[in-house]
Amino acid sequence: MRFNPRARIDQSQIQTRRGGGGGGGMRLPMPGGGGGGGRIGIGTVVVIILFVVLTQCTNLSLPGAEPGGGGDTTTANECQTGEDANRSDACAIDLFTTSVQNYWKKAYPDQKSQSYDVIQTIRFEGSTNSGCGPASSAMGPFYCPNDKRVYLDQTFFDDMLEGQLGAEGGPFAIGYVIAHEYGHHVENQLGVLGKVRTQKGPNSDAVRVELMADCLAGAWAKGAQETKDQDGRAIIEDLTQDDIKRAINAAEAVGDDRIQKRSGGRVDTDSFTHGSAEQRVRWFNKGLTEGTIRGCDTFATDRL
Ligand SMILES: [Zn+2]
Repeated sequence: MRFNPRARIDQSQIQTRRGGGGGGGMRLPMPGGGGGGGRIGIGTVVVIILFVVLTQCTNLSLPGAEPGGGGDTTTANECQTGEDANRSDACAIDLFTTSVQNYWKKAYPDQKSQSYDVIQTIRFEGSTNSGCGPASSAMGPFYCPNDKRVYLDQTFFDDMLEGQLGAEGGPFAIGYVIAHEYGHHVENQLGVLGKVRTQKGPNSDAVRVELMADCLAGAWAKGAQETKDQDGRAIIEDLTQDDIKRAINAAEAVGDDRIQKRSGGRVDTDSFTHGSAEQRVRWFNKGLTEGTIRGCDTFATDRL
């Protein structure tokens, strides 16, 4: 795929921030990332980061957490067009945000007879404050239901998804991650997040919420090529089966079983929070095939 070079990023949907705190915020040392000394083993770092990625996805466990830790310096956004997004992952994040939300602006009212509540992606570097507590690059992308924003460190894709999680990457994998986080926002609007009671285990509400977000990401993927910017220009062009495969590969890479194996442990379904690789791919594909909110209702089935 490529972005239509003339498509415009909707700036009202983006906030860019540079983290405060000494030396670029609270970054954990990355393997091979030039950290000093290497006193913490690579395995430890992977486990810490994966734990965080696994548990922070929707930040459901942190209502009203205290702010602090990060800086909140809002910076001017260098990203404006599809041409920028073709060049830079950071700008791709912004244009995918436009694509995903413009998709739901139409698809949500079509299916639910209610308007979609447009929110912002906070794209930051280092660390920042969120309505769910401090956000750092090590946490991975998340949706905070308290302030209704998607938080995303722009280095996540290089460092984590393609680095530690071993996904093939590519622009559409970035699109999948953004669409997954916005899937949580759609769930919030549907009242689904408020239904979460069980946080862990193969049939837990937490897993249902995550698989539903994967499915809603698939629904966006189905309609992605038809999404338009505010001037009516197509945003995404030349979407191929290989792009879809890369999105699926990313969904697979973040399956609980994959992550547990990768971090050197055995597969323990009782501690699942997001679902297995097979489940995540299957639900993404269900969204991709059916393209409906109803088809993504993981709370309405016994077969996750
Ligand atoms: Zn999630």
